[in-house]
Amino acid sequence: MPEAVLRRAAEEMLDWHGSGMGVMEMSHRGKEFGAIAMQAAADFRTLLAIPAHFHILFMQGGGLGENAIVPLNLSRGTKADFVITGSWSAKSQKEAQRYCATRVAASNAADQHTRLPDPASWQLDRDASYVHVCTNETINGVEFQALPDLRALGCDAPLVIDFSSHVASRSIDWRRVGLAFGGAQKNLGPAGLTIVVVRDDLLGRALEICPSAFNYKTVADNQSMYNTPPTWGIYVAGLTFQWLLQQREGDATGIAAMERRNIAKAKLLYDVIDSSAFYNNTVDPACRSRMNIPFFLRDEAHNDAFLAGARETGLLQLKGHKSVGGMRASLYNAMPLAGVQALVAYMREFERSHA
Ligand SMILES: *Cc1c(COP(=O)(O)O)cnc(C)c1O
Repeated sequence: MPEAVLRRAAEEMLDWHGSGMGVMEMSHRGKEFGAIAMQAAADFRTLLAIPAHFHILFMQGGGLGENAIVPLNLSRGTKADFVITGSWSAKSQKEAQRYCATRVAASNAADQHTRLPDPASWQLDRDASYVHVCTNETINGVEFQALPDLRALGCDAPLVIDFSSHVASRSIDWRRVGLAFGGAQKNLGPAGLTIVVVRDDLLGRALEICPSAFNYKTVADNQSMYNTPPTWGIYVAGLTFQWLLQQREGDATGIAAMERRNIAKAKLLYDVIDSSAFYNNTVDPACRSRMNIPFFLRDEAHNDAFLAGARETGLLQLKGHKSVGGMRASLYNAMPLAGVQALVAYMREFERSHA
């Protein structure tokens, strides 16, 4: 979380704008919270240049919830294609199997999820109800640098993207997207809020068994207030959107500024890893994630000492996901360049004293 956002939320916690209530105490149907939610949606639309024919939905259930909610809404119980690029897309396919037939259109499992299959090689089903892609694989550290253009590949199915772990870190070409979803907790705000961006024409296809509160059309028709939305999460994410809109980097503003900063942060860390014989990252440079950077100490016997020293230096949460091992640095939007500079200074010093 950006520190400025946390401070603002703290200042307003007991009394929002002189209303005599904190946001957590408001009715979600009152005019105060109505204004907060409308502003948050408008700012998110501006920030990511989301065209008018897409709805922005504030939901609950997280990324894993959407793994079921998407097929409940889009599959019509028929079939869907999945591009398997790491742990998250694999999970999405597994969950969707409960609601429709699934096919693997491409997979990088044979490469241990370290490179992305070229879209030209994907075996897409023309009749698929949708094609699912995880655009940033948080655990494996691979990221699509451009969205696939399904139409150019001869497939008219809508592209569904899971952008949970890199939403708002870069711009999005909405011409290529049918639906995007993500949990807010990595780059936008507190856990509990899920954001869905869905194209108009994809509403109204839900299966009969789809819970009403998870039916995109019902949620859209009720401006995300069919049931009580995660009000605190929407409010804090809204503060983050305003913070993002204010960012400047040279002549760039908003997302473009964020993207520049994220490129610089990631380059700093990858350069240190690549120029060292002590550290190692196995992901194809063409698809390395800017947000989640897994790396290994070539001598894993130093892992515990590395993590303990990092903790003492104030560098936290560097242990890699258990399925991959090693280390992982997550350089989300709110991580300043100074944080990455501190990390690489520590890494160089640790290498000097342990190589
Ligand atoms: C973190 C993450 C999720 C998380 O799902 P939750 O249900 O919100 O825990 C889903 N997809 C990706 C790519 C993630 O990084």
